[in-house]
Amino acid sequence: MSKNFKNPRIVVIGAGFGGLQAVRTLAKYPVETILIDRNNYHTFTPLLYQVAAAELEPEDIAFPIRSIIRRFHHTHFFMSKVEHVDFENRKVEINGHTVSYDYLILGIGSVTQYFNVPGAAEYTFSLKTIEQAITLRNQILSCFERAIDEQDLEHQRRLLTFVIVGGGATGVEFAGALAELIRGPLRKDFKQLDFRNVRIILLEAADSLIAGFPDRLSAYAQKRLQQMKVNVQMHSPVSEITKKNVRLKNGTVIPTETVIWTAGVYGHPLAQLWQLPTVRNGRVPVLPNLQLVDHPEIFVIGDLVHAEENGFPLPMLASVAVQQGVRAAQNIVRQIKGISSVPFRYRNLGTMVTIGCNSAVASLGKLNITGFSAWIVWLSLHLVKLIGFRNKLFVIINWAWDYFFYERAIRLILPAADSMNSVISTKADIPTRLSQSQIKIEE
Ligand SMILES: Cc1cc2nc3c(=O)[nH]c(=O)nc-3n(C[C@H](O)[C@H](O)[C@H](O)COP(=O)(O)OP(=O)(O)OC[C@H]3O[C@@H](n4cnc5c(N)ncnc54)[C@H](O)[C@@H]3O)c2cc1C
Repeated sequence: MSKNFKNPRIVVIGAGFGGLQAVRTLAKYPVETILIDRNNYHTFTPLLYQVAAAELEPEDIAFPIRSIIRRFHHTHFFMSKVEHVDFENRKVEINGHTVSYDYLILGIGSVTQYFNVPGAAEYTFSLKTIEQAITLRNQILSCFERAIDEQDLEHQRRLLTFVIVGGGATGVEFAGALAELIRGPLRKDFKQLDFRNVRIILLEAADSLIAGFPDRLSAYAQKRLQQMKVNVQMHSPVSEITKKNVRLKNGTVIPTETVIWTAGVYGHPLAQLWQLPTVRNGRVPVLPNLQLVDHPEIFVIGDLVHAEENGFPLPMLASVAVQQGVRAAQNIVRQIKGISSVPFRYRNLGTMVTIGCNSAVASLGKLNITGFSAWIVWLSLHLVKLIGFRNKLFVIINWAWDYFFYERAIRLILPAADSMNSVISTKADIPTRLSQSQIKIEE
């Protein structure tokens, strides 16, 4: 290491896929790293939908940040929701005091994008955080508990109609998992219910599912979901959502109390609040080396950054964020050493989407596979990527239980109904019925 190295301080905001990888990379060098996140855990978002579908426990897909960094000597962690950064004086405000930095990595991710659809933010359920996944699980299970006691058939049907808006990867994966939860364990649990009244509807505005995948894989995903009794509706943009209905642009009204919004994501709004430049989707444009224009000491990574390759913006994916975390950290070290930085290049190792147990689609370079083989690839890769031996072990146990017994281990409504006064009816009811300490709603 160069003698000129002066132990500079690097602050990383966000312990997501990008931020965590940046910290891991920086740990190899004699620099002081400060990691800040609003949570004390890292969330493995690719399996979030399985928490919402009662397939995995929340703690199976979360990992304590302090456990990850405890073997790094010059790395510190602060749990704090950052609201203010003084870019001119290079200071981050946390928990009422400031931390100065020589270099800053911004990796605060993205939020749900509602495209100004009236009622969407108020009445739909999101799937971006662990709290939201638990809230959605509660809602689905509560709807069944209420439906079995409901004499009014129209209301019962509304309770048993689940509408997913957005046929991207998250919408497709959740639709498959929900179909299996309902047609398997819940059918056994709620024998008195007439399951012909249960409907899962997947609404997609475009003409195919999982945009960006080859046509053959999109068609496979659609066919597979239809076999699982998911009602897939293409060309179905939503115009309004109320407490009791979804209205489509073509005038159709679908009575439901559970709408899951997976239609889009948007760069974290703090970027705009901090007056950083933003482009489409609220993402921050950067130089090819991920450095902020006018601020060579600031690097932006992951969902928050707008980086292009061959004229197209890179997708909001964990794999992109991880690789950018490494590149940003390495470029900071190069800058400290006085070596010119290296532009970011994304190595696309493939994308995949699972559709219930036993089937998936995988696009791995020129190789496109579907069905059981794709599902095995998906399964293996997610197990490898999941952090922590304990998490891997519990995920394997839960998957095996589900696979061999067609049974979900976790079907609890938490917190208990009497602590909520009554069960949740729509997302808009939650803040009035639950204290913020019980369930936190994502902005
Ligand atoms: C349901 C779901 C499924 C997905 N499935 C896949 C998949 O299968 N494969 C794939 O490649 N990608 C998938 N993604 C996308 C992937 O999760 C993101 O692209 C990736 O997480 C982006 O990484 P990031 O580091 O930019 O942000 P994130 O991983 O979102 O991390 C952002 C971090 O910033 C923290 N933070 C935010 N605001 C503040 C603040 N004000 N102060 C302090 N900390 C803050 C958050 O707590 C979080 O830890 C999925 C996403 C979702 C929501």
